[in-house]
Amino acid sequence: MTAPCLTPAEPPYIGRFAPSPTGPLHAGSLVAALASWLDARAHGGRWLIRIEDIDKPRCPPGTDRLILEQLSRCGLLPDAPPQWQSAREALYAQALQRLQTAGWVYGCACSRKQISVALAAQGWTSERHGELVYPGTCRRGLPAGQVARAWRLRSHADGAQTQDLTLHWQDRRLGAQQQNLSREVGDFVLKRADGLWAYQLAVVVDDAEQGISDIVRGEDLADNTPRQIRLQQLLGLPRPRYLHTPLVMGADGQKLSKQNGATALDLSQPPQALKQAAAVLGLSVEGQSVAEVLAQALLAWRQQMLA
Ligand SMILES: [Zn+2]
Repeated sequence: MTAPCLTPAEPPYIGRFAPSPTGPLHAGSLVAALASWLDARAHGGRWLIRIEDIDKPRCPPGTDRLILEQLSRCGLLPDAPPQWQSAREALYAQALQRLQTAGWVYGCACSRKQISVALAAQGWTSERHGELVYPGTCRRGLPAGQVARAWRLRSHADGAQTQDLTLHWQDRRLGAQQQNLSREVGDFVLKRADGLWAYQLAVVVDDAEQGISDIVRGEDLADNTPRQIRLQQLLGLPRPRYLHTPLVMGADGQKLSKQNGATALDLSQPPQALKQAAAVLGLSVEGQSVAEVLAQALLAWRQQMLA
């Protein structure tokens, strides 16, 4: 009997597309879906779909099924049944518990208004995408008589040397990236005042639990990456590779998003929609059928991204 040939343990490629079903796919989300599918296929890996529906009040019923149908019409079929985050809350609770036990979580009593007032008092006007950098009010304990509304991650430990936590990572398209987590983000919320799980925690838990090796998603999510890497570090989870894809710009020069009312994707001719998505990725693709367009896009992706 011959011994099995052992190769270094490289985790198998597993990619995913993880839409929030707050509305049907738009042109920008098809670009991200196509890119993650192409990258998984180009690596001979698996491709999963995860419906990120933890923010239930923002997810109209049936939108998840609509998105799956849109993907299916474009030939983007997952290699395993889709997962819904709303069915996975026990995993998020376990992760929060682990972080709490390790002393990385604290209760926060602040309202948004109180946070703005505290920041203004410190002369701090830093604001990212309308998100306030938390001033650390409850970091050393809740103010007297207050109760915790939300749970926050202590993004860096106390102490002079650790107050300036800068995270570095490599993006396959954007190159070397960095963010000062303590100054640009601050202690971020893991469980919200309304009881909903924060996106960052759910994504990190799910990516690890599903064995995701490669995250391919739109560039609008790039600045979430340091928060997710920090959670991976503190939970002892592996760090996936990252590739953030170009955004689709609207006529007004703003990125298309469900928030600014991007219209739903026109899928009357799926091959056309796929060709347009491929063009955003810099892939020049011909073909009349979905299968032809996907096959050509895959060839072009291999040449462009894996050469
Ligand atoms: Zn607070």
